[in-house]
Amino acid sequence: MTETTSSGLRRINWVTTLFLLLTPLVGLIWGAIHISTMGVGLSELAVFAFYVCATGFSITTGYHRLFAHGAYECSRIVKVFYLLFGAAAFQHSVLSWCSDHRRHHKYLDHDQDPYSITRGFFWAHMGWLLVTDHKKAEDFSNIPDLVADPWIRWQHQFYVPIAVLMGFVMPFGIGYAVGHPWGFVLWAGLFRVVLVHHSTFLVNSLAHTIGRRPYLRAISARDSIVTAFLTFGEGYHNFHHRFATDYRNGVGRAAWDPTKWLIRGLEMMGLAWDLRCVSTERIVAAQLGCDSERLSERVKGHPEQALAHLRERFAEMAASVQRAATALSKREREFAEARKQWGRDRSAQLTALRAELRAARLEMRAARVRWRAVVAELLSGSVALSA
Ligand SMILES: [Zn+2]
Ligand SMILES: [Zn+2]
Repeated sequence: MTETTSSGLRRINWVTTLFLLLTPLVGLIWGAIHISTMGVGLSELAVFAFYVCATGFSITTGYHRLFAHGAYECSRIVKVFYLLFGAAAFQHSVLSWCSDHRRHHKYLDHDQDPYSITRGFFWAHMGWLLVTDHKKAEDFSNIPDLVADPWIRWQHQFYVPIAVLMGFVMPFGIGYAVGHPWGFVLWAGLFRVVLVHHSTFLVNSLAHTIGRRPYLRAISARDSIVTAFLTFGEGYHNFHHRFATDYRNGVGRAAWDPTKWLIRGLEMMGLAWDLRCVSTERIVAAQLGCDSERLSERVKGHPEQALAHLRERFAEMAASVQRAATALSKREREFAEARKQWGRDRSAQLTALRAELRAARLEMRAARVRWRAVVAELLSGSVALSA
């Protein structure tokens, strides 16, 4: 064996590599045999669905938006749920996951980003996990807030037994109680682990490859509804990298972001609070900034005199959009404040504020339609540059 080959082999993180290769492989072979002989039971599908949601959301709602970004506060019971089912997702402890993730945000698209897309799709997806490079020395200096939490330290210390217990032993136990122990291990253990793994991995690979960049153009992170569907709503990644502490990723009211809906549901049940939300004003300013850059690129090289007209139209439109955004932000703040102070009793006042909020939203929507039309017109070049 040459020296290069042996040092290459030493770089491989064998435990993780074997786990990531064997889980789909064994799942495929065992799954084919199990399904062809026993079929698919409804109870197996039900426990599979529960486990996909419990572990998948513990990563997106818990590991990511709560622990890594502090996008909201929640009760101890919810945190413990995340710690237990997050471990069952087999993506390492909160400390390890969040330390890597904060580095990803801080050094995005640079060498110190552990899963930088600049090293290729496969590296960002799972290649970085197969080698020991970034794990030579565990450095948690970028997550002092998490290290200070005794529950999080406990999960880190006992990560492997918790993961095995919650991820495989528990499905076996529940299955044993209903007479399908191995079917439950196959569905809620093996199939689910593989599915949730690759769903999370897509946030580092696909979300940095396909989609649009409406909030920040200088980075690889992109917004795509396709990625959002595959990742529990984490696919609005350009927005997320621009406004990382916002509890939403899909900021539009209809955007596919089940993680955001779950956080809001927890808030309604009194289990989550202090949801951090960037104002519409700042979001619109970021979008206008990107549009302005796009337009500047589009018209580069045209005579200065001809560009004055375009700039004037863009500035006019931007001012009216900003006015609508400022008014909407004000109404949103007032409404949120009123809800906090008055509770649900003062429904008449809340109803009045809600009507004002709705009017401000309609005005913003109309401004957005005009904005899109003007930008499309300017970018398409249909505006006569000589005008
Ligand atoms: Zn990212
Ligand atoms: Zn993040």
